[in-house]
Amino acid sequence: MTKVAIVHRDEIPGLPSNYTEEDLQVVLEMVDESFNLLGGIDKFIKPDETVVLKPNCCTYFGSIKVDKKTGEECLDLQGAANTDARVLAAITKLALEKANAKEVITGETCAFDYHDRWQACITLNVSGVEAAVKSMGGKVVDFNNLERVEIEIKKPANAMAKIHVPEILTRDNVAFINCPAMKTHSFETVTLGMKNYQGIFKWEDKMIAHDGKLSLKFVDIARTLPPRLTIISGIWAVQGQGPIPMRGHEYMTITDMNTIIAGDNVVATDAICAKVMGFNPKDIRTIRLGAYFGAGPMDLNKIDLVGESIDSVKRDFIKPSNECNGIYEGVRVIEGCPCYVCKALTRAICDGLTFTYPKFKKHNEEPIFILGKNAYIPEDIKDTNKEVFVIGDCAEEYKNITSNTHFYPGCTPMQATLEIPSKIIKKWKSLE
Ligand code: SF4
Repeated sequence: MTKVAIVHRDEIPGLPSNYTEEDLQVVLEMVDESFNLLGGIDKFIKPDETVVLKPNCCTYFGSIKVDKKTGEECLDLQGAANTDARVLAAITKLALEKANAKEVITGETCAFDYHDRWQACITLNVSGVEAAVKSMGGKVVDFNNLERVEIEIKKPANAMAKIHVPEILTRDNVAFINCPAMKTHSFETVTLGMKNYQGIFKWEDKMIAHDGKLSLKFVDIARTLPPRLTIISGIWAVQGQGPIPMRGHEYMTITDMNTIIAGDNVVATDAICAKVMGFNPKDIRTIRLGAYFGAGPMDLNKIDLVGESIDSVKRDFIKPSNECNGIYEGVRVIEGCPCYVCKALTRAICDGLTFTYPKFKKHNEEPIFILGKNAYIPEDIKDTNKEVFVIGDCAEEYKNITSNTHFYPGCTPMQATLEIPSKIIKKWKSLE
């Protein structure tokens, strides 16, 4: 029977990327306890094996930043978007010293390939992960700099027939350990072990099935390339409109979740974590479809749960929403029938703008978004001078609706998430 362990502490000293040796010791004991509850580290890592850790280091945030106004150091709650550096340091140390692994490599790819600051070399560094694992004798790599091989998806495939993965993850003598962060996600409700696979792909492959089949893509890869172990870092956690806590949305970071969830099957581990976050695993597409298509169990009676009980650590996380029409003052959304992915992307853009909008409200220059096929376009839109953003291939027919219309092609047009907010804010600033 698949096994999942929950480990919790009432208090954990230090911050994810700023901590003392004594602080780290607390997390090290939690990770060690997780391995012991699952049967011992030797069960997952053999002597002289290479261990590859895949964290979620998607952003250029640590847990401390310099306040631009005062020049003083302050807490950076956006750092919750990354796997806790202490957890990765602890796994590295235990793998090398207790399991006698040959080497421990922490690998990641860019979250967006459009801008330097989203590259893995930056995110691994700023998150504190690089320093943490190197201090324990580990290494970091950008998977984009390693050889890739094309693998066939185990049949029956649901979203794709083949995909490229780092060659190192396909070797028999490599222990692949999936190390996501405990976070909500506006596309998939949560981003845990299943969604963390997206970070092993090169950019073009990240875009494969990045539409309504996105969850099935993770099912396909989880069945084809299962990790030996999934260790979810939930010391800090993200709720609400994840995966990245935004400025002005401090409620999104939970700094005292103080929990690690580890398991030998990724679907089962995600299912237990979803319950700990207050969600029904059946309501999470990646988990429900993972169970349905045989990637692992989600029913509690098929999982041997060890350590803490779910109820003793459970919190009711705020659920993310992909609704974007009528949510925010200052944003007008015209929807045809988009799938959940373009809706979530538009919502994420709107969430990001709400911090800045109040300052520019007086100009009455709200942006207009059009997404999905079969949209009804009101007459006043055709005459507007306001900026109109047409999101995704499904809405292409509206790309010339006004002279101020900007079309973002793609399915899903991920470039829109970075380009549209900067374009809107630039316009707002020009009116001052
Ligand atoms: S363009 Fe957007 S709405 Fe259309 S299928 Fe792709 S992701 Fe969905």
